[in-house]
Amino acid sequence: MSQIKYIIVTGGVLSGLGKGVTSSSSGLLLQCAGYKVTAVKIDPYLNVDAGTMNPYEHGEVFVMADGAEVDLDLGNYERFLNCDLTSDHNITTGKVFKKVIEKERRGDYLGQTVQIIPHIVREIVDGIKDAAKNAKADICVVELGGTVGDIESMPFMEAARLLGREEGRDNVMFIHTTLVPIVGSVGEQKTKPTQHSVKELQGLGIRPDVIVGRSDKKLDEDIASKIAFFADIPREAVISAPDARTIYEVPLIFLQQKVPELIEKRLGLKAKKPNVKKWRNFVDRITNGGDEVEIAIIGKYTSLKDSYISHEETLLYAGAVLGCKVKIRWIEAPDLEDSGSTDALEGVDGVIVPGGFGSRGSEGKIMAAGWARTNQVPYLGVCFGFQLATVEFCRNVLGLKDANSSELAPEGKNSVIDILPEQEGVKDMGATMRLGDHKVKLSKGKARDLYGKDEVYERHRHRYEINPDYIDKIEKAGMKYTGRDNGGRRMEVLELEGHPYYVASQFHPEFKSRPDKPSPLHLGLVKAALANKKG
Ligand code: GLN
Repeated sequence: MSQIKYIIVTGGVLSGLGKGVTSSSSGLLLQCAGYKVTAVKIDPYLNVDAGTMNPYEHGEVFVMADGAEVDLDLGNYERFLNCDLTSDHNITTGKVFKKVIEKERRGDYLGQTVQIIPHIVREIVDGIKDAAKNAKADICVVELGGTVGDIESMPFMEAARLLGREEGRDNVMFIHTTLVPIVGSVGEQKTKPTQHSVKELQGLGIRPDVIVGRSDKKLDEDIASKIAFFADIPREAVISAPDARTIYEVPLIFLQQKVPELIEKRLGLKAKKPNVKKWRNFVDRITNGGDEVEIAIIGKYTSLKDSYISHEETLLYAGAVLGCKVKIRWIEAPDLEDSGSTDALEGVDGVIVPGGFGSRGSEGKIMAAGWARTNQVPYLGVCFGFQLATVEFCRNVLGLKDANSSELAPEGKNSVIDILPEQEGVKDMGATMRLGDHKVKLSKGKARDLYGKDEVYERHRHRYEINPDYIDKIEKAGMKYTGRDNGGRRMEVLELEGHPYYVASQFHPEFKSRPDKPSPLHLGLVKAALANKKG
């Protein structure tokens, strides 16, 4: 196999500068040039994975095909690079330390003093190399989470340096993303924070080859030259990353500044012209107008929009396919519940109740499901939204007033949603849910029409399910389970007869969406919302 090339993306000054977008945009351009590209995300926290983290702090927990619960950036990589990644592509401090400590206990290092250097660093380097190799990549983009200078990221910085040493300077390059703030009454771009972070990086033995300067506007020529001068790189290796209309525009901004050529030259690769026709067309479609539909997302962490990022992205893609704009109305489920009124929903063309956990806000979500059902407004329920739609139906159509999920009312008499049998007795919270890809068999109905096939694999993340004891009764009253698991026992999709679009799934269709392939169930929702609006 030929030598794999590595692009390490670091961040300076502060977090949230778009290292992920820098990484995925560079990766996409190289992919459009014909290279096989993969990505690794490094998260320097002690959690083994993102599964136990609060979405309010970290945004959505993304689920991969193999069931790994990971940082939402991995979702961006899958969507940009149109690939399915695995657990190995998210390296965390927790994962690395766990592995090294387990090895130590097993006796793999017998006789040695086990230390950050060399043992932890070795594990990181090997992890990156294995992920790249298993993906059969020509180029592996490695995003190093955190900011240069953080104590947490030190072992990873050292690993990046070592990777360069082992693989050779021609095969490993560094892109540093930094902030160029505009301050003062004259709106001057300031380079000092960048200077400091580049120095910090150099102090760790890493020389950036490309600097991406994030700023509200394009970098002034003299500012870009100044950055190039003190970082000791050519002027053309300083890239302007001004605020874009959408993250999907960034690859095009990079292309204009010849980022692929810079990378190819630095890594000794043949210069190939990226074919971005399809991408450009997609960007045109999402930035151009069209009819607008408004979809309410009833969530719990809606003030941090990234909590539902995969839903947002797939709605955007659905809009692009259907030639319309999808506006999202964010509704806090606990507020809906407290107000005791569905007024906040008035005027929306469709409703999504996404995945969720716990009692807080669950009654608000049930109210939204009921409002959409009785008002003939298109509804998509995902996971918790699937379970709660069933609860609402049982309460208000079957007349089981105390119907609930045993997650929310453990002692309740009518647990129409109950714990998965294999989950009983599970005590550990990390990576123990029913996770990842499982086969779903679809029978006649809207979901099967939208997927265009009767067997699909979709990603899961749940501990509870529809209680089989109630299925007959529910179906007789008009709510049909048109998707089931391979064994037929587990309910996966529900549809309401006689409603323009009332569809919900136990799985999370949003995790598999791609710019040119929105999740079929979201596409169906937006289509129905458009029809609903036109009346
Ligand atoms: N809390 C529910 C369960 O565990 C739903 C989970 C989800 O929405 N991801 O089954």
